[in-house]
Amino acid sequence: MQKNTITILGDINKQLLGLTDQHIHYLGNECLTNKNLTDKNVANHHEIKAVQTLSRSTIGIHQQMKTAFDALKHSAQTAGIELKIASGFRSFERQLQIWNNKFTGKAIIKKTNGEIVDVSRLSDWQIIEAILLYSALPGASRHHWGCDIDVYAPNLLTAGKSLQLEPWEYQQSGPMAKLSTWLTQHAAEFGFYLPYDCYRGGIAAEPWHLSFRPLATQYQATFNIQALQTCLINTDISGKMVIVDNLTEIAKRYINNVNT
Ligand SMILES: [Zn+2]
Repeated sequence: MQKNTITILGDINKQLLGLTDQHIHYLGNECLTNKNLTDKNVANHHEIKAVQTLSRSTIGIHQQMKTAFDALKHSAQTAGIELKIASGFRSFERQLQIWNNKFTGKAIIKKTNGEIVDVSRLSDWQIIEAILLYSALPGASRHHWGCDIDVYAPNLLTAGKSLQLEPWEYQQSGPMAKLSTWLTQHAAEFGFYLPYDCYRGGIAAEPWHLSFRPLATQYQATFNIQALQTCLINTDISGKMVIVDNLTEIAKRYINNVNT
């Protein structure tokens, strides 16, 4: 059993907003995607590209969560589940890039059923709502904290198929069903829980998103809407005016509206 509190080291206010990675431990080559490992061209003239891909795909987790995560992973292994992280720490800059790409149409926005949102007829506020279903506002992503991770099990994937990180994969008939069931039964033994266990009128259910309670509760308690607003005003975020005008509503529906 994890103890309930761990004193977070460093500047928790900066960590909360994704403005530092001082609290992050970066994992090694284990995070290489399967594609990279099987890419025969990696060894020769694509070497530089492979290095760039590696740095982009390097996964980081909170230093003070590493022991707990290793224990969770080991226990899953004994149950025949190869627990891997699809996404760990994300900086403010990275989340801003995701946000702006979605807002400006460079990246697609999906609905819960996997359908793509047609943004051409939507108002700025409607686009913001559509993005927030799956992507957090920069400065308000739990992935900034390092103690929140998206997990999957490569050994449970259907041969030749890659992970989509869509709800059906984690449902009863999906390839990750065994992982979902195991997490529901055992994650809490290691201090982990699912903050997006179901849809609460804001963020969609994310059965792959795990949170490490001893750290997450402290970040959540430190959340300050004024600090977030100041941070956003000073960036080139798309939809800034509408975001700032509706920040209280966004916080209520999408930031604080989670399983505790
Ligand atoms: Zn996540």
